[in-house]
Amino acid sequence: MEDCIFCKIIESKIPCSKIYENEQVLAFLDINPAAPGHTLVVPKKHSMNITDIDFNTLGQCIGAIKNLAPKIMKAVNATGFNIGMNNFKSSGQAVMHSHFHIIPRKENDGLMLPRQGKYKEGEIEEIKNKIIKELD
Ligand code: 5GP
Ligand code: ZN
Repeated sequence: MEDCIFCKIIESKIPCSKIYENEQVLAFLDINPAAPGHTLVVPKKHSMNITDIDFNTLGQCIGAIKNLAPKIMKAVNATGFNIGMNNFKSSGQAVMHSHFHIIPRKENDGLMLPRQGKYKEGEIEEIKNKIIKELD
């Protein structure tokens, strides 16, 4: 897709630090890493995010993540990893081409804030019911 930075990387019009490629997926290092080895797993077929990616392409991405993540972890001497995907601008999605983040983690690396949210009385049930209604 024109004006899509990840499509340009996939077409080799923009360079990247590629770590893996197959017919459907390209994986390369994030230029502004949250941690050393922070990798982006990107489907070659353009879609915006999880809402419009097709199941086959999604499966290819998940398969690549499963293969790559433990190896990346080992390579950077990490002891864990997060897998993430931002969907839409409000979530922090900056590049509107589906992609997954693999972020290597170490004990006490301080990367994530502790979960501080609290539900009000009855709110958890209310939200659960709203979501289940959407699934109908
Ligand atoms: P998002 O916020 O959309 O989930 O993540 C986009 C990620 O792409 C960011 O972490 C950002 O650092 C990375 N990124 C943006 N442009 C480039 C680029 O040209 N090359 C590489 N390697 N990463 C990029
Ligand atoms: Zn694209």
